[in-house]
Amino acid sequence: MDINNICKDILALGADKAVGIDVKDIVFNTDFRKSCEENKCGNYGRNYTCPPYAGTAEELVAKVKSYSKGIVIVCTEKISGYDDMYGIQLADKRIADTALLADEYAVKNGFDHLVVGGSNCKKCTPCRAVTGGKCPLPQKAFISLSAYCIDTAKLSESCGINMVWDGTEVSYFAMLLLK
Ligand code: SF4
Repeated sequence: MDINNICKDILALGADKAVGIDVKDIVFNTDFRKSCEENKCGNYGRNYTCPPYAGTAEELVAKVKSYSKGIVIVCTEKISGYDDMYGIQLADKRIADTALLADEYAVKNGFDHLVVGGSNCKKCTPCRAVTGGKCPLPQKAFISLSAYCIDTAKLSESCGINMVWDGTEVSYFAMLLLK
């Protein structure tokens, strides 16, 4: 398995950045769960890919650690400010689409893999978690990096990815994990 070639393939699928990382270098912060429980985003208990449905912090950290390599996938959009919902939603959609393509790519190549993120799954409106229905696409409903307690700021540092926080661009992250 050639990680550099996989990164090139992921870039060809539409990612703006694709960088290989050893899973042992990923930094987790289980305190992120406190923010989820405060429900500032309104998705706690309302999306199957968010807590508490997604699994406990310990379960999800262990799941990530069962893989050895990761490809960090980034999609970035220019925005006019953090109230530029069009640009923010565009980046969110692009990472979701790229994560799906990365999953299909991994299946096609026979990789033992897991796709993490981008943000929570938005394939149904609303998510069936709200109505108590069964998820129609459990294999394609990816859990977010934050639910996995992955520290995205430290992840970018490890990968040499420069995160811009001045309101001129927004970046969304996903990962393709490989055994
Ligand atoms: S596919 Fe639909 S029901 Fe399943 S997690 Fe995504 S939004 Fe929720």
